[in-house]
Amino acid sequence: MTFTPHGKHLIAGEWVSAPETFHSAPAHGPAHEFSAGTPELVNAACEAAEEAFWSFGYSTREERAAFLNTIADEIEARAEAITEIGSQESGLPEGRLNGERGRTTGQLRLFADHILKGDYLDRRHDKALPDRQPLPRSDLRMMQRPIGPIAVFGASNFPLAFSTAGGDTAAALAAGCPVVVKGHDAHPGTGEIITEAIHAAVEKCNMPKGVFSLVQGGDRSVGQTLVQHPLIKAVGFTGSLGGGRALFDLCAQRPEPIPFFGELGSINPMFMLPDAVANRGEELGKGWAASLAMGAGQFCTNPGIVVVIEGAESDAFVAAAQAALSEQGPQVMLTDGIAEAYTTGAAKIGAQSGVQDLVTSMCDRREAKPFLFKVSASDWLGNHALSEEVFGPLGIVVVAKDADEMDKIARSLVGQLTATLHMDEGDTALARRLLPVLERKAGRVLANGFPTGVEVCDSMVHGGPYPASTNFGATSVGTLSIRRFLRPVCYQDIPEAVLPADLA
Ligand code: NAP
Repeated sequence: MTFTPHGKHLIAGEWVSAPETFHSAPAHGPAHEFSAGTPELVNAACEAAEEAFWSFGYSTREERAAFLNTIADEIEARAEAITEIGSQESGLPEGRLNGERGRTTGQLRLFADHILKGDYLDRRHDKALPDRQPLPRSDLRMMQRPIGPIAVFGASNFPLAFSTAGGDTAAALAAGCPVVVKGHDAHPGTGEIITEAIHAAVEKCNMPKGVFSLVQGGDRSVGQTLVQHPLIKAVGFTGSLGGGRALFDLCAQRPEPIPFFGELGSINPMFMLPDAVANRGEELGKGWAASLAMGAGQFCTNPGIVVVIEGAESDAFVAAAQAALSEQGPQVMLTDGIAEAYTTGAAKIGAQSGVQDLVTSMCDRREAKPFLFKVSASDWLGNHALSEEVFGPLGIVVVAKDADEMDKIARSLVGQLTATLHMDEGDTALARRLLPVLERKAGRVLANGFPTGVEVCDSMVHGGPYPASTNFGATSVGTLSIRRFLRPVCYQDIPEAVLPADLA
């Protein structure tokens, strides 16, 4: 079943257009025309979301769970068409899109189960102590409540799992918050068909029409109006450090500042400890190359930096990675802009003092091949440019003289989504030294694995200190991500008959 987009926005249950248009720029297949978003459409969507909050924010958990499961059903009913247009627009292979669709529907169903359990409400009750001396205590109850309309910015690199019905949308709807999505120009048709699925679920479940709106891309004023709209109470964002920081600053400058949950850049360092490198350096080198090149390196958890201690064993690790990356063929990147940023970023790294090229590539228009560079720890430590994310399959090996220098690198890191230790038994002492440093730097610390592949589950943390995210108390993946769209309310001496149903 081929899907041909009509190119409209969904505002409060109606498909609408504005006069300006733009064309999609698919990696392959036909380009389509889309109506471009405007501040007026954003305003209409936000007003409808606020109106919807008065019923959706007070819906039962059972009603919202059924809604989330119905969205998942409606996405599955459009499976083939979603994969087809998603693959055309993003250039991602069909297998990847099928997997990502499963992750998206799994995420929606996980949130349905999660809210039914009710633990996320974090209900507390301090009973009244009328006879307490010197003062009596009131009856105090606490519960988490939804905060209001949420703005979601779809990510270019996950057209399904981090976009229109992705993790931010699922978490917000589960919490009881209506959502306004600013679609990503890299996949407007995919955004439209997913919006169709959500729209069908809204109608089937009799949800208020403003519970979900999609405003397709336009110029920057669309996103800026959205985050500054007085009815928006928080923002979920996945994308670049520059874009995220600009929108974060706008949120902070509002008359009523609101939280901006941005998941931004990360170089996801891996520390190869000496015993592990001596015992299985070649295997680790090949493993790193595979993780680095997977999906053309367009993952926020892509391990862009590896730290080794100098010596013959680490040379064997580097040689294995070099050989594997040299054999990697070209892969299509998500957009022309991302491909261009990759080429420019690689050239900038290659031009830094002390940087040695191990694998250099020619990149055609939207196709990327890997780059591999090597640099000493002292050169790396003295040059901030070498610790900036280059989105794509680009790796840097940082060679430390000894464990002290490795520790110094760990301490110098800015916030990361992940940090990884590769270690064998003989590395335990060094790992114990590094772990307290790394847990201050990263949202997730791994041993003997690769950070690409983020499990959607209760324990997952996909976030970290700035600049990995703008809010280190939060995660954008896993059930804990619902907390971003809730706030605690204390109910003091409120009679049972008046309390919210979840507390009574
Ligand atoms: P992006 O440029 O940050 O854009 C993400 C979304 O934010 C888009 O809808 C964009 O709208 C909007 N936006 C960005 N800056 C804005 C501003 N100043 N005002 C209003 N809206 C703004 O990210 P991207 O397009 O996905 O990819 C570009 C780069 O982001 C990549 O090369 C990569 O470095 C990085 N990236 C990182 C991750 C990660 O997970 N860490 C994921 C994806 C991308 P417009 O389209 O109108 O700009």
